[in-house]
Amino acid sequence: MNPIPGSIRFACQGCGHCCTGEPGTVYVSLAETIRIAAYLCLTPAELKQTFLFPFRDGYSIREDKYGNCLFYDGSCGIYPVRPAQCHSFPFWLKNLSSLEAWREVERECPGIGRGPLYSQEAVRRILRFSPL
Ligand code: SF4
Repeated sequence: MNPIPGSIRFACQGCGHCCTGEPGTVYVSLAETIRIAAYLCLTPAELKQTFLFPFRDGYSIREDKYGNCLFYDGSCGIYPVRPAQCHSFPFWLKNLSSLEAWREVERECPGIGRGPLYSQEAVRRILRFSPL
């Protein structure tokens, strides 16, 4: 599945590009809603009412009218408990489905090519959590 030969360097630069702009869907599992609600000192019901909408067997995060994640305000407001979809970026199945797809995400994410090396095995482990 991984078309990239060798290891990949990655360290998030906090630019927010993947959290803002074009509309997207961020899957949030039921277990993740409980962790996020606790982190924000909200009840799960309050979290869902304000920040989420039903999606598949869980939820997705609402965005503002510009397509920005509601939890992003210059930085991620739920970073320590962010959903697996955010946590596993850029190592998503769809991004690693072809060299072309990876080149595209490389252009969008300035964190790729910086920071610690992720071995093929480490990337494979992260891919197990990729919902996309
Ligand atoms: S685009 Fe890359 S560097 Fe920017 S916030 Fe997202 S993961 Fe981090």
